[in-house]
Amino acid sequence: MNNFIINFCLLFTTITLLFLPFRNRPRVTPNTNLNIRLVLGAIAGLIAVLLMFNSIQIDVARVDLRIVPVVIAMMFGGLPSALVTGLMIVVTRFALTPVEQIDAAILSSIVIGLFIMTIAIVRRYARMTLWHFELMVGIGIVYSLPAIYLLTNSWSTFIKISLAYIFFNLIAGLVTYHLLAELRRHFENIQYQQKLAMTDALTGLANRRRLDDSLSLVGSAEDGYSLILIDIDFFKHVNDTYGHDAGDDVLRQLGTTLASLARPDDLVGRYGGEEFLIILPSTPALDAKKIAELARTTVARNLFPTTMVPDLQITISLGIAHSSGSHTSLEALQQADKALYHSKDTGRNRSTVYTKQLELEQA
Ligand code: GH3
Ligand code: MG
Ligand code: MG
Repeated sequence: MNNFIINFCLLFTTITLLFLPFRNRPRVTPNTNLNIRLVLGAIAGLIAVLLMFNSIQIDVARVDLRIVPVVIAMMFGGLPSALVTGLMIVVTRFALTPVEQIDAAILSSIVIGLFIMTIAIVRRYARMTLWHFELMVGIGIVYSLPAIYLLTNSWSTFIKISLAYIFFNLIAGLVTYHLLAELRRHFENIQYQQKLAMTDALTGLANRRRLDDSLSLVGSAEDGYSLILIDIDFFKHVNDTYGHDAGDDVLRQLGTTLASLARPDDLVGRYGGEEFLIILPSTPALDAKKIAELARTTVARNLFPTTMVPDLQITISLGIAHSSGSHTSLEALQQADKALYHSKDTGRNRSTVYTKQLELEQA
């Protein structure tokens, strides 16, 4: 009884601890990358091994909750995961068994093998439900009982031990299923909150926090990066004339336009109000200028229809700065801002690359 309770505690604490590395990943399924499924199998195997070190020895039988980790491996990762778990169980069983009881280890390995083969077939038709999880645990119980019978000496011991075995395995299956579901909900919730914390609610682009994080990362890169700071021209006029909602519509559409022009490694975000920032890693100023001009001309040529004004047109002004790692991202940002100011100052709807010369002129 006590050992079953130790098995219980071990099962739940090790599940909670060992599945933490999976918290930022999507749920593992038989379609997940094979290496990840093998790792999952090894983790489930480790749990099973810990359980086996605390199994109840009755005559030559060793009784514990090891079928539960096998079901976890099969349910999530499919056959490859379960085979890894099974292999670790078999190796441990032989390691723990004295030579004169080797028959017991062989029998136990045959049971695990048959069990895995059977639930591999069941897995094809199973869904991630409590009943299917418990069905697999039940199959494990059905396969184990004859072996426990053969390895115990008396009927009365067998009856006593098998009742406890059935009861504790089914309860363990139930609690494990709910624990895993709860952990998954918890992980997904954290991922969702993290995403929200990094996303601008209006445009769905990166928000200021994400841009700042990315700036501090890209700032340490050797090969330099460029920044494009973008500000809508006379945006106050749009708001004042057509209303704030129309203004929001324009911001959303501009966000989509900018995101569609960026390359896969660029990060487009809303830096605040009606200002957008594009971070272009490993990009020289000349290439950034090309992208900035493409954005400028695309915006100037396209309509930004809102419910009130179907043919609204806007223009943007842009400032470009390049950083080669010798100055901080804050300095690069200030340079992009100066270049943007220059674009505004010289008539708007244009892009300017920051140069020292520009700063002297402004001063
Ligand atoms: P300039 O060409 O010099 O940039 O002129 P501007 O009118 O765009 O410049 P200004 O900075 O004076 O105005 C920015 C306006 O952007 C003011 C504010 O009402 C508007 N704005 C800032 N954030 C939002 C937003 O989230 N939604 C809407 N609709 N408007 C916003
Ligand atoms: Mg502005
Ligand atoms: Mg503006």
